[in-house]
Amino acid sequence: MKAHNLTILSEQTSQLYGAVNKGIIATVINSIILTVVLWSYISHIILLIWLISILLISIFRYLLAIKYINTSTDHTPDKMNIWRQRFLIGSVTAALLWGTASIWLFPKDDLPRQVFLAFVIGGMAAGSIISLSYLKVAVYSFLCITLIPLLIRFFYSENELSVAMGSMILLYFLVLIQAAKQTFNTNIQNISMRIENIQQLQSLNESEHRYETLLETATDAFFLHDLNGSFINVNNQACQSLGYSKNELLTMSVEDIFELTEKEKYMNAWSDLKAGENIRVEAMHRRKDGTTFPVEASLGLVVIKNKPLLSVLARDVTDRKRIDKMKNEFVSTVSHELRTPLTSIRGSLGLITGGAVGVLPKEAKEMLELANNNTERLLFLINDILDMQKIESGQLEMEFETFNIIPFLNRAVEENDAYAKQYGVKFVLKKIDNDIELCADKSRLMQVMANLLSNAAKFSSENGVVEISTDLQSNDVVRISVTDHGLGIPKDFHSKVFEKFSQQDSSDTRKKGGTGLGLSISKAIIEKHRGRIDFSSNEGVGTTFYFDLPLK
Ligand code: ADP
Repeated sequence: MKAHNLTILSEQTSQLYGAVNKGIIATVINSIILTVVLWSYISHIILLIWLISILLISIFRYLLAIKYINTSTDHTPDKMNIWRQRFLIGSVTAALLWGTASIWLFPKDDLPRQVFLAFVIGGMAAGSIISLSYLKVAVYSFLCITLIPLLIRFFYSENELSVAMGSMILLYFLVLIQAAKQTFNTNIQNISMRIENIQQLQSLNESEHRYETLLETATDAFFLHDLNGSFINVNNQACQSLGYSKNELLTMSVEDIFELTEKEKYMNAWSDLKAGENIRVEAMHRRKDGTTFPVEASLGLVVIKNKPLLSVLARDVTDRKRIDKMKNEFVSTVSHELRTPLTSIRGSLGLITGGAVGVLPKEAKEMLELANNNTERLLFLINDILDMQKIESGQLEMEFETFNIIPFLNRAVEENDAYAKQYGVKFVLKKIDNDIELCADKSRLMQVMANLLSNAAKFSSENGVVEISTDLQSNDVVRISVTDHGLGIPKDFHSKVFEKFSQQDSSDTRKKGGTGLGLSISKAIIEKHRGRIDFSSNEGVGTTFYFDLPLK
């Protein structure tokens, strides 16, 4: 049997025993009154035997109820059945005694007392609906056993009034049966609903408890705050990491735990957030003692009782930052240490292969040229790594100046022409808008152009043409584009193009060399100019890389 049904059965049984007392009180009072009223009309012996029997059965039922309540903690389903049977014995015996009243206590020639007897038995039958309607068999048997002898008794009397009484009792009996059925159904429904409510409440409590435990044992600090920033809930870890008590934090707001400079960044981050979305923000938290530490916070918008709230999980990233710093310092030191000797090696190799120290044997020249090329590639890599490191540590400084776009693009073409020639590629300046003055870091922008032009040349087919053009997007934004007619970029690589160290994984690309850092650095430089870099590409047709720069 399902757990739910078992719970209903046990609740039914408890209700039966709970209502026993009402039935007993009614039985005792009614049986005594009936005995008194019939005292002069029925043999005293019969009356007393009946009264004593009914009192004894009432005592039995009362004791049974007490025992049931005292042992209610160990009621297994089997025991429940036994308790229901015991109850039934009590109620059927009581019904039998009321039924026998219609036979033994029926005052033959006294209609008023007959009516009184019918009134008392009918009242007991009606009362049974309240106290016995948790068990169908109990209430039906009580109604049948108490009322059927009475109505037979009336029908068998010769007088017409008695027959009329009998008919009324029959009608009354049918109505009571119907009422018992309805009361039983309503009782079961109520019990079932009550059990469901209790179960729902229990599972709600359990999940609340699980959620609390999860939060309190989390290693990240948790904050729940409203859109004004006032805290609504925080976990243990939040208190520990900030040095405040929970009560203190619950009277504070995000403003109190953020560095002032960080507050705006944090507020901006969640102003556009939609329910179900998640964003990550790096910020600095301030402890109660004034010291600060870096955190990586993950923010989500949740709606609780129609109120939008922000749930924040903040992780202390002090250790990670320290390790990152150490790693960056190491990379930076190694790169700097390598760059100086490599530059001098490349200089010497260039001079030797250029014939500065005399004519070299052909084989020696070829080998030195190879060494020169590889040294150059190593220098590119080192320069890119150093740039990347500057970008990541926020040390990429910009020196803005105003200059005209035409000489700038001409120089970009000139400087990269030799590289393009290696691939048999030609740069063509097309559709250049005159009179455009850029305000930018010229050498950094030249670095971006060098990257785009060298990529375009590198990935063009032989004898290909690479076009450079400008296009005014609006009064204050200019677009500079570099278009090649090469292999194009496969769709599945589009999302990775600007990632660090990303190169399309084909032997062809690998053969062409490169570090996979160029576009990532270009993106950072353009963004430092408050611009945007992007591309469009068709496989087999070609690629256009472009960047938009604000003119003011
Ligand atoms: P790399 O030093 O490898 O050129 P980049 O960051 O400049 O590094 O470019 C990353 C990758 O993007 C390249 O390796 C190449 O796979 C792809 N790519 C960039 N420009 C083009 C282009 N014009 N045509 C085809 N693929 C390109």
